[in-house]
Amino acid sequence: MASTPYFCTMHVDHLIIGQGICGTFLSWYLQKANRSFFIIDEARPNTASRVAAGIINPVTGRRIVKTWMIDQLIPFAQNSYKELGAALNITAIQQKNIIDFFPTPQMRIAFHQRYAEDSQYLSFPAEQTKWKEHFNDDFGFGEIGPCLLVNLSDLLSAYRTHLHNALTEEAFDITLLRRSEETITYKEITAQSIIFCDGAAANTNPYFNVLPFAPNKGEILWIECNELPNNNIFKYAINLVPWKENVFWVGSSYQWEFEDELPSAAFREKTIANLNRWLKVPFKLLDHKASIRPATIERRPFVGFHPVYKNVGIFNGMGTKGCSLSPYLAKEFVENIVNGGPLQPDIDITRFKNILSKNNYKVAEKQ
Ligand SMILES: Cc1cc2nc3c(=O)[nH]c(=O)nc-3n(C[C@H](O)[C@H](O)[C@H](O)COP(=O)(O)OP(=O)(O)OC[C@H]3O[C@@H](n4cnc5c(N)ncnc54)[C@H](O)[C@@H]3O)c2cc1C
Repeated sequence: MASTPYFCTMHVDHLIIGQGICGTFLSWYLQKANRSFFIIDEARPNTASRVAAGIINPVTGRRIVKTWMIDQLIPFAQNSYKELGAALNITAIQQKNIIDFFPTPQMRIAFHQRYAEDSQYLSFPAEQTKWKEHFNDDFGFGEIGPCLLVNLSDLLSAYRTHLHNALTEEAFDITLLRRSEETITYKEITAQSIIFCDGAAANTNPYFNVLPFAPNKGEILWIECNELPNNNIFKYAINLVPWKENVFWVGSSYQWEFEDELPSAAFREKTIANLNRWLKVPFKLLDHKASIRPATIERRPFVGFHPVYKNVGIFNGMGTKGCSLSPYLAKEFVENIVNGGPLQPDIDITRFKNILSKNNYKVAEKQ
């Protein structure tokens, strides 16, 4: 998409930095609340939202426990993606349950134990030989559902086109931002507030870099495989996710310590070896990417306005769960902005009032 020129002075209610999944849903709900906005987004190919699979999985971890708020998030995500998809004329979300192959006898036992405690999202498919042609399944499998799969690549691109004159593709330069108590000014744009949806880049954002971010690197492969059905997500320590016709997303790694944001030979070799052990059907490597998840130390998002710079906001920190959290929390944030509705304490950045208040960011305050 070409950059939208904004030669004339433009006034909007909100200037948004970033159109990943967070900037997308925040602006969508602002638009529905009749608020005007303008988005600045640099077209980086390897942002978290562009590399993510788009899975909404109701359970997590080796103990297969329910994820935070999932009973509210699943129905909300279903409706919000369907509504946005209908406006964009795309299929934005589909149900694709996870066939969870047990990599060890211990994992099989853990699944059975968890099923006995709480079977809301777990089951055992009746046809236990169904996948024999496609996979080596020494220890059997269970099913996790309902799981949802968001079509992130079509959604982000279609929404960008839909935004038309409300987005420019360029890098936002914070040294050019001017702020007073009443107004934000950036080049020719004036706004009542600026809201950063800049993902992992927030780590270097001088207003918010004191927040306890814990960036996490993830690597993935895309493979071509003509013989695998595409109506489920398959899991065997790694996820195999239907992406496009005969193309599957494979991943991912979770690295808390890393030196760069680049794809590594070590991940590629290990993942291909795992696929060779697991798959009985041929596949071909198409691509390999890495990106950084905007994760946080306490695994809870950062939402709200800065306690000192009251017209500077943040909508970030979705970690591994951007697809399920961003629609629900964007709606909550917009209710807060428009009607003064409450933000739940777990996400509200006023919980970091002390450290944020000590962070005197002077450069951006130059007039
Ligand atoms: C390998 C991997 C797999 C994942 N799988 C899943 C999954 O299956 N399900 C799930 O729910 N989550 C998944 N995630 C997590 C998910 O990707 C994130 O939670 C989510 O994408 C974060 O969205 P965001 O909008 O905050 O950030 P981003 O997607 O990073 O978006 C930030 C945007 O801001 C822009 N930007 C930043 N700085 C500037 C600047 N100075 N000027 C202009 N533009 C700027 C960037 O270009 C970008 O478009 C995965 C992440 C990774 C890395």
